[in-house]
Formats: sequence, structure tokens, C-alpha cells
Amino acid sequence: LREAALKKADEDAVTSDGKRIQVFANIGSPADVEAALENRAEGIGLFRTEFLYLENDQWPTEEEQIRAYRKVLEAFGDKPVVIRTLDIGGDKDLPYAELPKEENPFLGHRAIRFCLDNPEIFKTQLRALLRAGVYGNLWIMFPMVESVSEIREAKRLLEEARTELEREGVETASPKVGIMVEVPAAAVTADILAKEVDFMSIGTNDLTQYTLAADRGNERVAPLYDAAHPAVLRLVRQTCEAALKEGIVAGMCGELAGDPHMTEILIGLGLDELSMSAGTIPEVKEKVRRTDTEKARTLADEALTRQAPEEVRSLAKEEN
Ligand code: PEP
Ligand code: MG
Repeated sequence: LREAALKKADEDAVTSDGKRIQVFANIGSPADVEAALENRAEGIGLFRTEFLYLENDQWPTEEEQIRAYRKVLEAFGDKPVVIRTLDIGGDKDLPYAELPKEENPFLGHRAIRFCLDNPEIFKTQLRALLRAGVYGNLWIMFPMVESVSEIREAKRLLEEARTELEREGVETASPKVGIMVEVPAAAVTADILAKEVDFMSIGTNDLTQYTLAADRGNERVAPLYDAAHPAVLRLVRQTCEAALKEGIVAGMCGELAGDPHMTEILIGLGLDELSMSAGTIPEVKEKVRRTDTEKARTLADEALTRQAPEEVRSLAKEEN
């Protein structure tokens, strides 16, 4: 059965009416590359770089980072590899960073906020990315972005890193630059943010917790935490429409992207790329091939009018 599924996974994910959907893998370290390739990922839609920092007892050096990024980029050749810059804070602590205790860490000094306030740490990663990028098809992604000014500042530091490297006579890549849409503010103003970037990828894990005000790790509110909530789906639609208008890629790399029951609705909402744990790729590709985009659009419109996530999920099941 697994053999048959993998054989099918070799075929492209194209809807019955001819729309190509990119089906990518999420990875947390170069060790995950094997499973991604085995399941026929067409690229990496999210490479979480936290492991480099969490496995170390000090800030990882530029060279250490290059080694890790290069492995993944080389393994994927000319296929896109989206590497996300450091997403620390929130639930992820770094002992050697001596991050101050916060009352509400998920609403605190995490991810791009931390990086912009620690430009030397951030620039080490950006330099490593620019250098490793020459070995493949690199796309750089900034997490937790909520405003244009953050994007501009991050891009300014990226250019600063490039200028430094060029002065040193080091070869650099010209990666695409994008953001995660995982804060409601970013989704609501996606039309404005889309003008600043080459792609957007929706992080439903955080977008759900922030939209529904339900901590993603708190068992007691787990029944409230469901990415299929119409409020989240409306933000997804809004983001996809903004991306389409600017002619940039709209992807999703949160857990929702890997739920095969939701594939049709996600295509109907306008996503071009879905990134997930490697194991679910063959099944999602199969779902894509059985989807007609017109019908998916109607189904998605219907989902947006439902009152609760359970209703969206049962609507999705009826169709599958
Ligand atoms: C997300 O928030 O959906 C996401 C993909 O990022 P992480 O799970 O690493 O926060
Ligand atoms: Mg996130």
C-alpha cells in the first residue's frame, strides 16, 4: 500500500482542471530531509531553524549555520527551500540567551521582534543564509511579522549583511524574501504587506491561537483551538486574495495544510502551496488531483458562512 502511495506521490499535484499546487515538506533539521525526499516533497515550505540554537549551548556560528542550510539546499537542488529565521521566545526558551521572564510569552518579545532588537545575532543568521543560498534555491522567511516597518527593517539588515559579505569578497545568493502570516494583524493587512515581499506563508498554528485567543499548548482550552474555525478561514481567504492581487505566492505551513480532509477547502480559499509533515504528502497530493477548483471555491465560500469549526469539518467530510 505504501509502495502504491509513493508511486502516486511521484506524479505532480495538479487539480482536475489543471491548477498546479506545490506540495512541500516542513522540516526541523537536516536529518528530516530523507523523509521529505522519500515522500516526494516538491520543496521545503518551512525549515524551522530553532534546532541550531536549541541544540547548542551558545549562539551558533555563521559556519555552523551554513553547514546545516547547505545540506538541505543541496539535497533539493533547484527546488525551493524556505528557511525561516529564528523564532525564539514564546514557548521556546534559550538558556544562554538569558531571556527575561514574561507574563505573556506568546504576546511577548519573540521571533522577528527578538531578532530586530538583537541585530548582531540576526545578522549572523542572515550572512549564513546569503552564503549558503548559492548552493540551491533559497527563500528566506521572517516569522511573527505584524507590520510593514518590521519587514523593511529585516530587509535592511539583510542588505547590510550582503554589503558586508561583498566587501569581504564573498559570493552571495539573491533569495526570495517572504513572511509568515501568523498574527491576525498581518492577515487583516495582507494587502499592504504583500507589496513588500515575494511570498507569504500562513502559519495556522499561531494564527489560530491568536485569532481565537486560545493558547495552542493549553489542554484546558484545546476544545476551542481549531484552525478550521471560520474566523481563521476568513483570514486565510483575505491573505490569499491579497497575494493573488500582487501576483505573489500564497502558501500555508501550519498543521492545517497537512489535513487531507481540508485540502479541497484550502484550494478553494486560494492557496498555491501547502507545506506539511512529510508523511502526509502522498495523501494530500492525491486529494489535490481529485479537486476541481471551481467546486472547491464554492465549497470554501460555504465553509466561510458556517458558525463553528465542527460544521466546517463536517462539510469537508461530506465532500470527501
Ligand atoms: C505556525 O505558527 O503555524 C507555524 C508553522 O510555526 P510554528 O508552529 O513553528 O510556530
Ligand atoms: Mg508560528
